[in-house]
Amino acid sequence: MTQLHAKKQLGQHFLHDAGIIEKIVRAIDPKPGDRLVEIGPGQGALTVPLLRRILAVAGDATPSPALSVIEFDRDLIAGLEHIGNTIAPLRIVHADVLTVDLTELAGPAPIRLVGNLPYNISSPILFHALEHAGVITDMHFMLQKEVVDRMAAEPGSKVYGRLSVMLQAYANVQSLFLVPPGAFRPPPKVDSAVVRLLPRPAARIGIRDTACFARLVKAAFGQRRKTLRNALQDVCTPEQMEAAGIDPSDRAERIDVARFIALANIVSPS
Ligand code: SAM
Repeated sequence: MTQLHAKKQLGQHFLHDAGIIEKIVRAIDPKPGDRLVEIGPGQGALTVPLLRRILAVAGDATPSPALSVIEFDRDLIAGLEHIGNTIAPLRIVHADVLTVDLTELAGPAPIRLVGNLPYNISSPILFHALEHAGVITDMHFMLQKEVVDRMAAEPGSKVYGRLSVMLQAYANVQSLFLVPPGAFRPPPKVDSAVVRLLPRPAARIGIRDTACFARLVKAAFGQRRKTLRNALQDVCTPEQMEAAGIDPSDRAERIDVARFIALANIVSPS
């Protein structure tokens, strides 16, 4: 595909390191029957090797379309159509991923989400995907390393925060490997990392009121240097914290996800 000028406002950093691309495809490990959806296929750096791997593993049973892609930049659509016409049928959704109903896109069977995401909207994309977690088997994303560190952080870590708790409540988060800026054109200013998210089955999440949980986590980390007694004074009482196994004189960064969920369920038991 002809190299186009990268659009900064769309977070365009195109992968060109064949070793890294192969590592990502191996981590995704497409299996026959998988229904893959790629966010931000760009010029096809991941799309083409993914399609080739799908063809290799599924052979004559390759589904049609073999892969769905969601791309916002209209200048990239013709190149993607060419890939679909020459390698294997692609379903091309020309849209802002944040407006795409992934549940509707999935239809009757679950999907696997992948993508080298535009970093400027990576958190909204993560939360959008989690809203559709019921139809998603797993997700493999390239993100800023700093974001992946926060997503996967454990209590007590300096980077454990709102993003860690909100994501880990709904998914198992695995940081897989680092990717240096030189793997992209143009190179981003930061290191990147590939992360795998495995959504937890709805029955195992156990949050009764998701809005209450989100509000509580936001308040707890909004003033992370304060004790929880102070940070959460408008949200719950010290007695409710104790009932959830939380010492009110503790700080949010030391509280694990299970205790945040327990507290939210005490605050909003219905
Ligand atoms: N997958 C390609 C690669 O690895 O070379 C491109 C990755 S680039 C980091 C991010 C891609 O997401 C770009 O193609 C960009 O146009 C696309 N993109 C940006 N914002 C988007 C949005 N809101 N919805 C869908 N795609 C978007």
